[in-house]
Amino acid sequence: MIPYGRQAISEADIEAVVRVLRSDWLTQGPEVPAFEKTVAEYCGARHAVAANSGTSALHLACLALGVGPGDVVWTSAITFAASANCALYCGARADFVDIDPRTFNMSVDALAAKLERAEAAGELPKVVIPVHLCGQPCEMEAIHALGRKYGFRILEDASHAIGARYRGAPIGNCRYSDIAVFSFHPVKVITTGEGGMATTNDPALAKRMQLLRTHGITRDAEDMTRPPDGPWYYEQVALGFNYRMTDVHAALGSSQMRRVDEFVAARRRMAARYGDLLSGLPVQTPWQRPDAASAWHLYVIRLKLQEIGRSHRDVFEAMRKAEVGVNLHYIPVYRQPYYATLGACGDGCPEAERYYREALTLPLFPELGQERQEAVVKALRGACS
Ligand SMILES: *Cc1c(COP(=O)(O)O)cnc(C)c1O
Repeated sequence: MIPYGRQAISEADIEAVVRVLRSDWLTQGPEVPAFEKTVAEYCGARHAVAANSGTSALHLACLALGVGPGDVVWTSAITFAASANCALYCGARADFVDIDPRTFNMSVDALAAKLERAEAAGELPKVVIPVHLCGQPCEMEAIHALGRKYGFRILEDASHAIGARYRGAPIGNCRYSDIAVFSFHPVKVITTGEGGMATTNDPALAKRMQLLRTHGITRDAEDMTRPPDGPWYYEQVALGFNYRMTDVHAALGSSQMRRVDEFVAARRRMAARYGDLLSGLPVQTPWQRPDAASAWHLYVIRLKLQEIGRSHRDVFEAMRKAEVGVNLHYIPVYRQPYYATLGACGDGCPEAERYYREALTLPLFPELGQERQEAVVKALRGACS
């Protein structure tokens, strides 16, 4: 089976990990701050806070933004559940904005219309979480302008998007948001095994995320409520978690960061090749915004089912039978039974529904290569006829 995504590990990556295993520090050593500095500099953000997963980083970000019971957080209808779960962890509610049929990202028109209705009902969101689906940046400037108008904060779920660029600048620089979060799961653009990172330009948000990442415990006298009892003294000043990344993972991350642009370039080349190979097939290939460059985490096509004469499910099953690990990213989150009981997306998401009936993720990862891409397209031609 050709997987839909897969890590690319070099000898240098392995050496970086082994070096840490031979050192004194497996966790809370020098590798995590070094990795944070690398990512912050790469993105052009002032601060970066590593965590043991993208999901943990999203949770820390929501907490730092003050999300709590009584609040509502909005995200895109088509995303991984973690983009919404992070709000629920804080005791808030989640609701969903319909997608743009061209980019599959949160639709700015749908967002604006929903905000108008929410304002009338007195239920404006505290935080909006745009997701750069497949690695393609959202319309951040427009979302930022709506944030100003309606007073919500912005958390970018950039799990798919390290290495992407928006208006000539890297995603993660937080020019149009409060915080951006990356994931380093093995299928993502770079990996640490499991891991995540939040970037921000706001030192108070960075400090809050650092505190909550490690139990809410501080050793900084400045942040304490009482004078120290002695040199051993520390204080727990909030209820935090153990969301720390280990030095082993961070060393892998720093090593992978050396090749992030190479990975994205390889993905972009293969996406262009898919574009050529798929021409003439009854599918819609991914449309790209002219003012952005995707990190190409995923290559999602939409089936023109009225031209195919076979069902979405038939095509999916035929591909799997042909040993091609196609996937569907994602089931609209509000369709999940857990969310359905919470009554999310009451006003409907017709574009997300249409997407769910037609979308198919083809394999894309740096070491996929031309031959396997041709095999994927050959299988798809067979599956569609
Ligand atoms: C992968 C992913 C996450 C979660 O990241 P983990 O590192 O797996 O916890 C969150 N949001 C989206 C959109 C993702 O794809």
